[in-house]
Amino acid sequence: MSKKVLVLGETREGALRNVSLEAVAAAKQISGGGEVVGVLLGDSVQSFASEMIQYGADRIVTVEHANLKQYTSDGYSQGFMAVYEQESPEAIVFGHTALGKDLSPKIASKLSSGLISDVTAIEGEDDDAVFIRPIYSGKAFEKVKSKEGLLFVTIRPNNISTLEKDESRTGDVSSVEADIKDLRTIIAEVVRKSTEGVDMSEAKVVVAGGRGVRSAEGFEPLQELANLLGGAIGASRGACDADYCDYSLQIGQTGKVITPDLYIGVGISGAIQHMAGMSNSKIIVAINKDPEAEIFKVADYGIVGDLFEVIPLMIEEVKKLKAKKVS
Ligand code: FAD
Repeated sequence: MSKKVLVLGETREGALRNVSLEAVAAAKQISGGGEVVGVLLGDSVQSFASEMIQYGADRIVTVEHANLKQYTSDGYSQGFMAVYEQESPEAIVFGHTALGKDLSPKIASKLSSGLISDVTAIEGEDDDAVFIRPIYSGKAFEKVKSKEGLLFVTIRPNNISTLEKDESRTGDVSSVEADIKDLRTIIAEVVRKSTEGVDMSEAKVVVAGGRGVRSAEGFEPLQELANLLGGAIGASRGACDADYCDYSLQIGQTGKVITPDLYIGVGISGAIQHMAGMSNSKIIVAINKDPEAEIFKVADYGIVGDLFEVIPLMIEEVKKLKAKKVS
């Protein structure tokens, strides 16, 4: 049976998050030829509708309210439920982001539905769709099928490809009036710790430093390499604990889970808790002076050497390659 699927479009700093476009692609597959309806919540979100449609959504429903300017689980759950009640979909897809991880269980419990979270791939479509998700900190994968009732899925960023953009696609954009009230928390101000650079969870390249980097200054060349590769900087908990960088950069079981095309681990031993956050990266490069370091067991390419020699050489080579491309 083809399905109507609601997809939450997440916006941040004036842009639609890429994971929401990946979610549209996932929804399209799940729908089996049914309808994909994008849901945009905020105080002014109409402008993101056309992008979702160009990437495959059939139409968009918005809820605009001053109390949705900043994300709160109370506000967003009221906004989303207003659209749910109007649309009565058979399936819902969210990104497995900080917001998605917070909001999806709340909505699932309101709807008494199951939740298949952190999906990295989908096989088949419609009622035959099988969802693949990592378990045991990424050591194994399980295949899950929804038996009955509402299908609710969150997808991990950077795993499911977006559909090709089609600028000629058009679709209806409508709005739902909802009285967003009784918020138990109000976000007075958002203070960003790292205002610059690429967001690690959506970055195609991540250069991560560990305790081997030895100081905050030691991270500067890593940041330079990340910038040259158009990527983001990350860290092990060892580096965060040693105060070389902020905890917002931590990758792992108790940090962020990332799946970039390229992960470069620098002076990181490869503890299981760190690997839980990066072992599904498409290509893993490890730089460590200890040839027995655990991280080499998951690495596609390993450089046994002193990072303080290797990183400057890499920077030099990337600069040369870039200069060649320009000339
Ligand atoms: P180390 O293990 O000290 O490794 C440093 C590495 O740098 C070594 O392999 C060394 O050979 C290499 N090195 C040193 N100098 C150089 C040099 N000059 N050139 C090249 N290589 C060099 N950790 C996380 O990362 N993320 C998590 O989310 C996380 N969650 C945790 C949750 C729990 C409940 C617990 C108990 C631990 C958690 N940890 C986590 C901590 C984890 O167990 C490790 O302690 C941590 O990952 C180690 O960080 P590290 O690899 O940077 O440091």
